[in-house]
Amino acid sequence: MARVALIKLFTGLNLAPAQLSGELLRAGHKSKIIYFKNYEDHLVGEAGNYEVADFSGRLYSIDGRELIWNCYKPFSDTEYELLINELRDFAPDVIGFSLYSGIIKESAQVTRKLREHFDVPIIWGGAGPTLEPELCIPHADLVCINEGEEVIVDLANRVDAGLPWDDIEGTWVKAADGTIIKHKNRPNIPLNNIAIPDWKRGNYVHINADQVKRGRFPQNLGREYPIMTQRGCPFSCSFCIESRYQEMFGKKDSLRRRSVDVVLEELRWAKQFLDIETILFYDDVFTVNPQWLREFLPRYKEEIGLPFWCYTYPTTHNVELLKSLKAAGCISITMGVQSGSERILRDYYNRPTKMTRVIEAGREIVEAGLTGFFDLITSNEFDREEDLRATFEFLLEFPKELKCVAFGEMISFPTYSYSLMSEQN
Ligand code: SF4
Repeated sequence: MARVALIKLFTGLNLAPAQLSGELLRAGHKSKIIYFKNYEDHLVGEAGNYEVADFSGRLYSIDGRELIWNCYKPFSDTEYELLINELRDFAPDVIGFSLYSGIIKESAQVTRKLREHFDVPIIWGGAGPTLEPELCIPHADLVCINEGEEVIVDLANRVDAGLPWDDIEGTWVKAADGTIIKHKNRPNIPLNNIAIPDWKRGNYVHINADQVKRGRFPQNLGREYPIMTQRGCPFSCSFCIESRYQEMFGKKDSLRRRSVDVVLEELRWAKQFLDIETILFYDDVFTVNPQWLREFLPRYKEEIGLPFWCYTYPTTHNVELLKSLKAAGCISITMGVQSGSERILRDYYNRPTKMTRVIEAGREIVEAGLTGFFDLITSNEFDREEDLRATFEFLLEFPKELKCVAFGEMISFPTYSYSLMSEQN
């Protein structure tokens, strides 16, 4: 049995540590999940008092305040000490970091600190290392490219058996002499085989504000159970990581959905063992594959019966589908709109959609009796006055019942096709 510590810098939804921990436990290993530090939003005028992660941005709240998101207070000596003590108690054989591109420098900082105390392999995985392994491998011993379920178990098995771990498919490895070994990617994993994620409170530690809290999720993981029935997306928006994954690993077969039986098995487990009240389906677009939904929704209502939330897309639902979601327990739904300008949607976002259809899709949400939310990106650099006017006109026509909780500006993550357009602009 290997002991694997999974570190997630900053709070926020992250299914990966729970999933990887579930895989490790199922394979007979031991794991501990440590959330280190909180993200905070602060008014623009106050953000200078904080550190700000890369690829952060401005958020315009509905009451007109301008906020900077992904701020944090610097890592204190006490917080480092708490982290090191937690790890010492656990005595890890492997340490894993789950990260995106915005926190490479912070992850490097914590990794450096941990190397002073622990002589074990350190693996980085997640969206950041997958998109920019060359920036990550200088800091880690291994970088996991793409999905990590099989990689983390393979690594734990080898460490446990005292075998070399420098030839694991789906990783880049830094050899002792500093040479980088780039192994071939693994194919996307079959989702029906993934483990039930580890949401047992006893395996969680949360360190922030010079305090350690054990057996407690970070505050944003309360009585709501997050789950994905699918990975991938049928669309390829230029500003979204899904389009980048499709370019890197192939679009064909990238959209995978777990079987109805497997999803319900996980939800039955969650309902029985966790104190949950609501299900959050974090599928990129839950309202695709009507045949799957026809099988799933009645069984969900009968076997789980908890209220739920999910995402939709303007062209993937109709009012009948939305009514069947509501009948199964859906109480609210979020639809991506992103711009009221067809020019921006078509020429820059790669999501050509007629605004008449977006408005109709909003009305269908209201007609179905669901509480609706919508996402809108503001402040993109390609907007002309005519685009801003189009968005303004769109908002006047869009049903007022749908709410937008905040307006965020466009953030260009490295290597996305939107970012390449932005660089050329
Ligand atoms: S529909 Fe949503 S998840 Fe899919 S590519 Fe577009 S932004 Fe990404």
